[in-house]
Amino acid sequence: MTSASIGSPSARTILVIEDESAIADAIAARLRSEGYAVEIAANGPAGVSRCAELQPDAVVLDLMLPGLDGLEVCERIQADRAVPVLMLTARDSEQDLLVGLSVGADDYMTKPFSSRELVARVHALLRRVDRARAEGGPAKARQPILVAHIGIDPATRRVSRDGESVHLTPTEFDLVLFLAESPGAVYTREDLLEQVWGYSITSGVRTVDSHIRALRRKLGNDVIRTVHGVGYALEDAA
Ligand code: CA
Repeated sequence: MTSASIGSPSARTILVIEDESAIADAIAARLRSEGYAVEIAANGPAGVSRCAELQPDAVVLDLMLPGLDGLEVCERIQADRAVPVLMLTARDSEQDLLVGLSVGADDYMTKPFSSRELVARVHALLRRVDRARAEGGPAKARQPILVAHIGIDPATRRVSRDGESVHLTPTEFDLVLFLAESPGAVYTREDLLEQVWGYSITSGVRTVDSHIRALRRKLGNDVIRTVHGVGYALEDAA
């Protein structure tokens, strides 16, 4: 499992912001064994300043922190530059709430979690960043899509509903774009995890549900249909 990139200048850097040192140390040890360079900050203000100095490739951020809570930390570290954030929450209900608020984290994981799952999600976050960069070039620019009164422009990553601009987080955008590319097609939550988040761990399906709820709230309840026992589809009702 140990990667050859340990200690090499190309190692990706992960900042772990978590006040419970046993959890922080366990996360750091596992990520280091995968070849990442890892630093730990034990409270919100330290996390914000460390992030500015370190410019990490990704951040693992606990919601419950002394000083500044994870929400405020997430906002501050993303104010200057976009950095992918995996947020740790104590309960599934917190995750739903945070997704609803469009906090801007890219993924959420509820404690307790396995280290294998954490690693899979960090790998997936970084792959998505790489993929988004690769697709960002003008040669790959795709045509805007209009489906079910929702306009989606892959080139500018802008979304509108009945002509009114709607703010989506990067992950919400990726999810609605994926669904809109095949209107009416039904995807399982596992399909969506794999295609949009880039991993396939069944405990992650909760993340899909939370983001679907956020999209319905922003784009209208009738846009995404639940196919009971199967998954979700974006409907072209027009
Ligand atoms: Ca904590």
